Amino acid sequence: MSKLKAADPHGFPFEPVPFVDLVGQFRQIEAPVMDAVRRVFEQQAFVLGDEVSEFECDLAEYCDSRDAIGCASGTDALVLALMAMDIGPGDEVITSPFTFFATASAICRVGAKPVFVDIDPNSYLMRVDQVEAAVTGKTRAIIPVHLFGQCADMKPLWQLSVKHGLAIIEDACQAIGATYKGRRAGVLGHVGCFSFFPTKNLGGAGDGGAITTDDSELARRIRRLRVHGESGQYQHSEVGLNSRLDALQAAVLRTKLGYLDEWTEGRRENAQRYFELFEHYGLEDCIQVPIVAEGERHIFNQFTIRVTGGHQRDELLQEMRANNVGCSVYYPVPLHLQDCFKSLGYQQGEFPEAEAAANNVIALPIFPELSGSQLESVVRTIARCVGHLNTSHSPKTWSSESLPLQRAA
Ligand SMILES: *Cc1c(COP(=O)(O)O)cnc(C)c1O
Repeated sequence: MSKLKAADPHGFPFEPVPFVDLVGQFRQIEAPVMDAVRRVFEQQAFVLGDEVSEFECDLAEYCDSRDAIGCASGTDALVLALMAMDIGPGDEVITSPFTFFATASAICRVGAKPVFVDIDPNSYLMRVDQVEAAVTGKTRAIIPVHLFGQCADMKPLWQLSVKHGLAIIEDACQAIGATYKGRRAGVLGHVGCFSFFPTKNLGGAGDGGAITTDDSELARRIRRLRVHGESGQYQHSEVGLNSRLDALQAAVLRTKLGYLDEWTEGRRENAQRYFELFEHYGLEDCIQVPIVAEGERHIFNQFTIRVTGGHQRDELLQEMRANNVGCSVYYPVPLHLQDCFKSLGYQQGEFPEAEAAANNVIALPIFPELSGSQLESVVRTIARCVGHLNTSHSPKTWSSESLPLQRAA
């Protein structure tokens, strides 16, 4: 890879681009968020209560689910879902090795065993056609992960669910508002698990999570499990967790939910601009852009590119950081190779696509407030790093048709 640090041939200014800018987002919504926070302080009811119930109603409506149950984190949402389905020691749960750690740790936390299947090299989603071969007499559930904001291919999983009597728990932590065949993430299985970690598309002021379901029996059980398995005051029918959503989080999330679709459109427009810029700079032979399934709504929690054509990911990453372009790697170590999962007995080479992705991917800034010149700076920085920026590449001029709709300030 070229180490060229020469000036841009057109004197195009390279702007620093942060990976995320939550301060910028806060500035847009400071007044309503601070009103919501004040409302909670005025009432001094900090755990569950009306704020949480109302957020749960709003979230259920947003996801088209019958019920939504707030809890302390996305990780706990997964744990609670597994507990509510009585999945535990002796059981197996099939999932992806290329995801955030919590997808698999939740399975271990309830005493069950994660069983991995490899991913598709284009979408990074679980290879659903490999799931059936992983089903054993002990398999109880499948956790498809809607990674980076794109839904897993659910239809084959529905068929397996019926055929083998398996529960489907969606890890929708990165996918609020994503759709598959016109239906939203969170209602594509028996339960959907969401995270409101600050960098998720709907991020709180700390940790938070929720579970969506159409099954009212399951919802009741989850509500009980999140408060110590309490069936009446100081009466415990089973041992649960302390995993409640705070009223402050709920108040902030309720406020931010009103902006979510606008922010998601901003992310989708930014993705579209990236697609055009990668093409404009002729980077197709060394960068693979995200592949979006036809007709589905990808919500771009991450915009993950793959470095191909012999270029080294880590070298590009270093160059990007040296040029003040924020980048991250999700995820550098596939879960089957994590030390804590050694006892599962997986070997290096067992999931070649997950391992290759871990070595080749970079997530670029995609937050909604990015400007056109920032997006251009990101792509020109990549083009320069891979030696593709030459005098034939003037900055992209946007025709009025290709310019994304102006977003409201
Ligand atoms: C964020 C995330 C989680 C965990 O959510 P927390 O709220 O951080 O506990 C689980 N799975 C995936 C895919 C995530 O991105």
